[in-house]
Amino acid sequence: MKKTILIVLISIVILFTIAYGLLKISSSRDFQFYGGLVTKAETTDKIVALTFDDGPTENTDEILSILKEEDVKATFFVTGREIEENFKEAKKLAEAGHELGNHSYSHKRMVLKSPSFIKSEVEKTDELIRKAGYEGTIQFRPPFGKKLIGLPRYLDKHDRKTVLWNLEPDSYPEIASDSEKIVKHVNEKIEPGSIILLHVMYESREESMKSVKGIIKDLKAQGYTFQTVSEMLE
Ligand SMILES: [Zn+2]
Repeated sequence: MKKTILIVLISIVILFTIAYGLLKISSSRDFQFYGGLVTKAETTDKIVALTFDDGPTENTDEILSILKEEDVKATFFVTGREIEENFKEAKKLAEAGHELGNHSYSHKRMVLKSPSFIKSEVEKTDELIRKAGYEGTIQFRPPFGKKLIGLPRYLDKHDRKTVLWNLEPDSYPEIASDSEKIVKHVNEKIEPGSIILLHVMYESREESMKSVKGIIKDLKAQGYTFQTVSEMLE
């Protein structure tokens, strides 16, 4: 009897360890089970990609005007649902010559989801991005950066990579609350080929929006030029 209890306990510990391991892998920036995972470009050239997640929303005009003033092309990872809701804004992004990336349709964690769910999330959004007028390569970035087996396998099968980032200044609450700290963080941590993630589409991210100009100016002063993700990965 004692032996049975011991076996059950050991099994529980093993299962928890596996579950914990899979949870870690699902957010890993270094490893996934299938296909290519990109967090930055391998280069010594001083190039960098600015990427904005979520949206489009009514904040689109504001970010577009900042980028226009600075003559910078960025990559916007947009969701299908928000393209439908703000179709005009999506068109403006494409018309201004920015890259549009696929950030799923409904922004759900793409972990433990069926192959048909994954396929529909990705393909519906691809279609909407095309409808908005974007003609270039469509990169994919998973919501919350989460992926495990189904999503990487789908992307690999379709010869697409999982695009993440190596700098995420507004993911740390103590930095996100102050645009100057966001600028400083990027200025200090930047390296050639970096992919910077920022969120500027919602009102709660005012400080991120305020940081964009400073980030661009500082990086230009360091000799960096800006490319879209697809340009940088070529
Ligand atoms: Zn997102």
